[in-house]
Amino acid sequence: MATPKLYMDSIQSCYLKEFNAEIVNIENNTIELNQTLFYPMGGGQDWDQGKIKFNDKEINVLEVRGRDKISHLVDQTHNLEIGQKIEAHIDWDRRYRHMKMHTAQHLVSAVAYELFDGVRTVGNQLRYDKSRIDFNPINFDDEMLSSLVNETNELIKKGAKLDIKIMTRDEINEIMPPERTNMNLIPPNVEELRVVIIGDNLDLCPCAGTHVQNISEIGGIEFLKKKSKGKGTQRFSYTLK
Ligand SMILES: [Zn+2]
Repeated sequence: MATPKLYMDSIQSCYLKEFNAEIVNIENNTIELNQTLFYPMGGGQDWDQGKIKFNDKEINVLEVRGRDKISHLVDQTHNLEIGQKIEAHIDWDRRYRHMKMHTAQHLVSAVAYELFDGVRTVGNQLRYDKSRIDFNPINFDDEMLSSLVNETNELIKKGAKLDIKIMTRDEINEIMPPERTNMNLIPPNVEELRVVIIGDNLDLCPCAGTHVQNISEIGGIEFLKKKSKGKGTQRFSYTLK
């Protein structure tokens, strides 16, 4: 059975920091809960960490994986049992950085698409200290890099709200060109998609990650480096200001 993901309900639910749950399965030091707020590694975004509390004990959640069924890797000596009710807290500093890094990625990808002839985002990795986006086709020079960063930071400064909607493929394609939303990567049998919308369709992107409520919360991005990955792909690395 798929694990209900408490951070998925709305943009606001990305701000929940603790929850109650019950242990439904244990395999060595990997546990499953009847619901979770822990984001599993996926969509380029790193996993959440945090703590699980029960019977005056406290154990660490070290790694979280899975797509439907979510597995939480915890300390070896956990003493947990199936049916145990627990209280869990996510490491908010880590998660909030991921939310900012991730929302920044949507923005940078949108700005690059507009500035550089519909360049596509072909990969990303969103981490605590630095993140990266792979673009294709592109050949960044200094001027392009500074306009990408400046334009992104201008938008962040102005601010714009994020919203989450469930939309059909046709509804999405009416608003955004399918090559911008990477619709070809979504299996054809998926009819309805969870879409993250920035401002008044400043960006619209099917996504299951965690995001901030307003892009102003990102604060700003700083360019770190570029790297060629061959075949017209270049990697843009950034961090938060
Ligand atoms: Zn996203």
